[in-house]
Amino acid sequence: MNPGLLIVVSGPAGVGKGTVVSLVRERDRDVVFSVSATSRSPRPGEIDGVNYFFITREKFQEMIRDNEMLEWVEYCGNYYGTPRAYVEDELRKGKIVLLEIDVEGAMNIKRQYPQCVSVFIMPPTMEELRDRITKRGTETPEVIEARLKRAENEMQHSAEYDYIIVNQTVEEAANRFLEIIRQKREQLQRRHQALNEERN
Ligand code: 5GP
Repeated sequence: MNPGLLIVVSGPAGVGKGTVVSLVRERDRDVVFSVSATSRSPRPGEIDGVNYFFITREKFQEMIRDNEMLEWVEYCGNYYGTPRAYVEDELRKGKIVLLEIDVEGAMNIKRQYPQCVSVFIMPPTMEELRDRITKRGTETPEVIEARLKRAENEMQHSAEYDYIIVNQTVEEAANRFLEIIRQKREQLQRRHQALNEERN
């Protein structure tokens, strides 16, 4: 059986991570996506169980207490976290598990899974990012400013990632992502095979 592969993806809010990741999933059927849990309210169009598991603060705190979160953060007054069970089950099945999480979460995962692959998605320019966040039209000016500040902060950590992808176009970014996955999968399979041969 194939060994599982854990991939963490970060990038400032509004950079288009979600769109890139959706395209990657569409084109590689071994890729599964961990749905995060959050205590924030759904934005228009967001669906429970698809974009996030929308849960109460109390339920979130209970999951933290019961060690059911692989990692979690509190950001802009809301909790965000990765439910543990799904990730561990899919890795055991040999799947490629994508986590779309913030920088703090990614570093946390790297400590727990040093063999994971980390990818940072960059906007072509800060102006472009401001445009994308503003156009979404779902946030107040204060929230937009807070998100841009955080974006600048997050981008300073991009060097700690294994790969950086600039999202010029979704198509190019997704192709680069698929290429990284292909290379890593081959590497892992070779290592796995070598280990098996040694044992026999
Ligand atoms: P948003 O409210 O725009 O959906 O997400 C806000 C931030 O939370 C983003 O930077 C996003 O990457 C991060 N985030 C979403 N899910 C998780 C998670 O499960 N864990 C962590 N650490 N961050 C998350």
